[in-house]
Amino acid sequence: MKILVCISSVPDTTTKISFTNNNTALQSNGVQFIINPNDEFGLTKALHIKEANPGTNVTVLHVGPNSSDPVIRKALAIGADDAVRINVEAIDPLQVAGEIAHYVKANPYDLIITGKESIDYNGAIVAHALGEMLGIPSVSPCIGLSINGSEASLTGVVDGGKEELTASLPIVVGGQKGLVEEKDLRIPNMRGIMQARTKPLNVVEASGSKEAQKVVNYDTPAPKAACKIVDANNVDELVRLLQNEAKVI
Ligand SMILES: Cc1cc2nc3c(=O)[nH]c(=O)nc-3n(C[C@H](O)[C@H](O)[C@H](O)COP(=O)(O)OP(=O)(O)OC[C@H]3O[C@@H](n4cnc5c(N)ncnc54)[C@H](O)[C@@H]3O)c2cc1C
Repeated sequence: MKILVCISSVPDTTTKISFTNNNTALQSNGVQFIINPNDEFGLTKALHIKEANPGTNVTVLHVGPNSSDPVIRKALAIGADDAVRINVEAIDPLQVAGEIAHYVKANPYDLIITGKESIDYNGAIVAHALGEMLGIPSVSPCIGLSINGSEASLTGVVDGGKEELTASLPIVVGGQKGLVEEKDLRIPNMRGIMQARTKPLNVVEASGSKEAQKVVNYDTPAPKAACKIVDANNVDELVRLLQNEAKVI
């Protein structure tokens, strides 16, 4: 079986976000980039499937410039067999999905795993757009996946509940926590890091897929107001603050 895991490179969750170019671009100087957490759940699931199905190959794919190579190498150190980087700046989810779809049409995979969404731009679009572009089923968010031959059993998240689905491969899965648990995530060990240096990272040129969005400007949320401490015995004051200042009651 051939599995493709799409990984997005996102700012570390502790990053203090700021912007440049008249608030139209992320200030990336000094920002630590990591594998999108939803993609790490997907990658770990792919490795579980590989271990249960000898002969399976796990490829990670990233759309972005070579500044993302350390993040790709981390995915290789975690256990992916090889990697592909489509060499173009990622501008929006439709452009990214278009680039991935173009690559997959020429290089078919049985199972394509993305995250349900990235934690930076939070589009939650790539998984379904990719399925549509490839003409195959997509399930996202997905919190359960098992493969039996050419059939997949999946648990999808729907409003207020879950749905159990079956589908024939190939499919696109948009993963998140639940596909595997946090305790299952793998930290690269020294052997993995050394091996990652020599695993293939194939750079392919972009197909010219077009974006549909244009950034007008970014804004940060209003800073949080100072915290007021109310004496535990002063319920009247607490009620007054909730009514007049927080205006929640
Ligand atoms: C000017 C600019 C420069 C950018 N440069 C980069 C960059 O160099 N690298 C980068 O990762 N992002 C970059 N981004 C962010 C990039 O545009 C988004 O990641 C992309 O548009 C997808 O949108 P999303 O993250 O909202 O998609 P979502 O639909 O939320 O993503 C869902 C899943 O799709 C997959 N996916 C998303 N993006 C990628 C990707 N680039 N490659 C492979 N799989 C992906 C992942 O599995 C992800 O979990 C840039 C954005 C702008 C505006």
